[in-house]
Amino acid sequence: MKTIEKTKPVLVTGGSGYIASWIIKLLLEDGHTVHTTVRNKVQQNKYGHLVDIAKKSKGDLKIFEADLLKVGGFDEATAGCELVMHTASPFFINGLKDARKELIEPAKSGTRNVLESANRSKTVKRVVLTSSMAAIYGDNKDVLSTPNGILTEDVWNTSSSISHQPYSFSKTIAEKEAWEMVEKQDQWDLVTINPGFVLGPSLTKRTDSTSISTIIQMADGTFKSGAPELWFGIVDVRDVAKAHIKAGYTPEAKGRHITCNESASFYSMAQILRKQFGSDYPFPKSKVPKALIWLIAPKAGLTRKFVLKNIGIKLNFDNTKSRRELGMDYIPIDKTLKDQFEQLVEDGLVVKK
Ligand code: NAP
Repeated sequence: MKTIEKTKPVLVTGGSGYIASWIIKLLLEDGHTVHTTVRNKVQQNKYGHLVDIAKKSKGDLKIFEADLLKVGGFDEATAGCELVMHTASPFFINGLKDARKELIEPAKSGTRNVLESANRSKTVKRVVLTSSMAAIYGDNKDVLSTPNGILTEDVWNTSSSISHQPYSFSKTIAEKEAWEMVEKQDQWDLVTINPGFVLGPSLTKRTDSTSISTIIQMADGTFKSGAPELWFGIVDVRDVAKAHIKAGYTPEAKGRHITCNESASFYSMAQILRKQFGSDYPFPKSKVPKALIWLIAPKAGLTRKFVLKNIGIKLNFDNTKSRRELGMDYIPIDKTLKDQFEQLVEDGLVVKK
């Protein structure tokens, strides 16, 4: 059990990211000194929003340059920190050319590099790792072989590989790497946050996180002829940020935490959006039958194996541990989607039909 001193700096890796930006905002507003890393300090457009937030907050922000693939790259940013929140990792599903290079290596080597910097720091007492539900299950079908058909923190993804669901594989091996490394020392302990599909308003106009591009696609006609019944555990980005902070500063927190609110499919999310904003945007009105998705899968950039093992299979998960241990009380999905869509409209990222 580790108690983290709130006056000591906290490192959040990958500050330019969708989730990390919210973590940093909450920490700065609470008066913390935050160290964060970005890949390239020259690209101020990726982190200018953090500088603006810091100016209006009680806390202080220090920005460091670090790449996940560079050994020792996080040493400077980690110095003096008792708490490290490691969020940086590539999150994209579509348009992959080389899964090993684009996903697996940055996820696994990045985790190792950050944790080795924690070892060398001599100050770090706790690491909060942004893992994922993707490290708990690979295909939705996996849920059917769990005890009582419910995903819990005891379940590990055993079905993903470099050629099937490579993003999920990257998150699984990165989390495993962290659990192996924590066993080899006793300076710091490890708590993981395992969010489902994270949605909700972004603090920037970036659209490359899959969390953002997916909601844009709901409104730009991509799913005009229907939405697949692909189910996820949904969670609000503001709740994910809160969970990281609770995991960092709650001495008793330990192990993995399913950080999801409720199950929803592309189709059910589209219906929520249609109810609220439907007259102005071409949200899908119907479900695409599984057989049709199977037929057109290769053209849609999907494998038939993915379709068979995922479409139409609902996810059941148990989020009791995050509620009990971290005090989570999740934002309802209707509010998450409403707030995200309003942000996208305000930022000009979706346009009326
Ligand atoms: P995001 O906005 O795409 O952020 C990813 C971050 O990782 C960015 O800051 C990115 O830096 C950084 N990064 C990627 N490759 C890097 C490299 N080689 N060196 C240094 N930094 C690198 O995605 P996000 O949604 O916030 O995801 C953050 C974390 O949450 C990831 O670990 C992801 O797996 C996890 N997660 C996300 C979801 C979700 O639904 N969003 C769900 C579960 C878990 P640049 O700005 O330079 O690209």
